Amino acid sequence: MPNHQSTKEQIKRTADIVQVIGQFVQLKKAGKNFMGLCPFHAEKAPSFTVSPDRQMFHCFGCKKGGDIFAFWMAYHGLSFLEALKDLAERYHIPITEAFSPSEEKKKSRLRETLLKINEMAALYFQRTLSDAETGNPAADYLKKRAISKEIISEFRLGYAPDKWDGLTHYLEGHKIELEKAGQAGLIIPKKGGGYYDRFRGRVMFPIFDLRGHVIGFGGRVLDTSLPKYLNTPETPVFHKGEFPYGLHASFKAIRQKGLVVIVEGYMDLLALRRHGLDEVVATLGTALTAEHVRKVKGYTKEAVVVFDSDEAGKDAALRSLPLFLNEGLPARAVVLPDGHDPDSFVNAEGLPKFLALLRDASSMFDFFLDQKLKEKGSGIERKVRILKEILPVLSQLRNAAQRSLYAGRLSERIGIKEEVVLSELKEIKKNLSSGALERDLTGRLTASKVEKKIGDFQLLNLLVHHPEAATRLKDADCGTLLSDAAALKIVEVIFEKYRREGRFSPENLEENFDNEEVRTCLREVMVADSIYSDQEVKQAIQEIEEKARQKRFADSVREVKGDPEALNRLLQKLKEQGPPNL
Ligand SMILES: [Zn+2]
Repeated sequence: MPNHQSTKEQIKRTADIVQVIGQFVQLKKAGKNFMGLCPFHAEKAPSFTVSPDRQMFHCFGCKKGGDIFAFWMAYHGLSFLEALKDLAERYHIPITEAFSPSEEKKKSRLRETLLKINEMAALYFQRTLSDAETGNPAADYLKKRAISKEIISEFRLGYAPDKWDGLTHYLEGHKIELEKAGQAGLIIPKKGGGYYDRFRGRVMFPIFDLRGHVIGFGGRVLDTSLPKYLNTPETPVFHKGEFPYGLHASFKAIRQKGLVVIVEGYMDLLALRRHGLDEVVATLGTALTAEHVRKVKGYTKEAVVVFDSDEAGKDAALRSLPLFLNEGLPARAVVLPDGHDPDSFVNAEGLPKFLALLRDASSMFDFFLDQKLKEKGSGIERKVRILKEILPVLSQLRNAAQRSLYAGRLSERIGIKEEVVLSELKEIKKNLSSGALERDLTGRLTASKVEKKIGDFQLLNLLVHHPEAATRLKDADCGTLLSDAAALKIVEVIFEKYRREGRFSPENLEENFDNEEVRTCLREVMVADSIYSDQEVKQAIQEIEEKARQKRFADSVREVKGDPEALNRLLQKLKEQGPPNL
């Protein structure tokens, strides 16, 4: 028995999984369960299921699932212990148990240490900024950029002084292992030994995860030197392109408005926040990633991406269209007037004008076509190029209605007959889906196996949804009816529990299995509806008992084949017991 069982149990009793997951994924009630778009794989139709009765989640698409801890670990990329600590803290449940050392613990201890060092560094940068003397250049810069005191403190902005050893000294003075600070990406080892500061002479922007921890930093120069931005490199706690900047502070506003405004830079985000627009995140100067889109789509119905007027902005817009199409998040695009970024625009023109731009923004799809149609080249050549770029994206849309809608729009915009667009699209689909065809064929060829599995599934469904049936099913030895290895494994454990404890409950059953296939099978049965009503249970049990008897009879006949004496004994025994109803 793991020794942290009781804290875990307490958390499970206190926290509601629908509420916890609902903070990150938009869930809609569907029967007794809740459904939403899976945060772990790209999908446009919800197959991510959360069951309040079972306190578990399961995605029928990518097969990820489990309890509240499994979700917290997968979503935040944490170990079990870290998830346990997080949730215990959230629900004010004390952790009283001692944890046994393990590989997992080592990893989670390292991450904890790195987060602690990041936190210390953030404090150091903050203090340096507020120091009247050393912080002066950065304070001046922020004042010039019209960043208010409130924003500076809310986002914990700081200053890394223009020195080689400012932070290094500070951390040393606080008895921090410098090697660990190096692992956090804050300082860099020197060739002859010792370390030097990575960030020098920069305004510092701590980057937060959704739990509010400082996972890394972005630093911006005060002048025109290069590189303009410097970010924390990949570390055990910081993964580039994982979190859009500012999401920790804006997700509530994003959910409230059903809208997220995506900008490129830190300064753009802070300027918009200062003017009162809270539903905004920034991509940290890198291109938008699928991970970004997947993180924000849990909070919003729509995204508006704001691009600078320059060519790079347009390129970024073109690259981001497939991301939004693939994740099924409607998106629009705003391009600012020449020479502006969101920061300069909102400071010069005010928020109402910026909001007007958002309101009038065209869909990302139309924006894409607008840009493409402006490109050089003769009519036909350009049209072919556009089709070549956009049809593969459209062909991946699983929703047929959406696909034909876009096809119609495409034909209208580039002046090619809709039939032509559609038939081209079909060609592409045919070529792309050789994998799908293979799966289809494999499915048909293994249909007989699937049918058997349905029998297994019925038995499992009965056991999990009507645990009271276990006693009779166990006595009837109906495990012999199962052909699916995963189902058999689960039934064996259920019967074993029944033998030992005289009862079993489906809660926490998953913990008994290490094999992912078995766990998936169990979750799918658990979140499914019961296939038998209460009235039908008795008859279902009888039918299964009867099937088990037949199976036993057939097996014994096979065993005694060629042994007349044994066959006789068997027939004699059957006469006494009564024959099976064949
Ligand atoms: Zn999934």
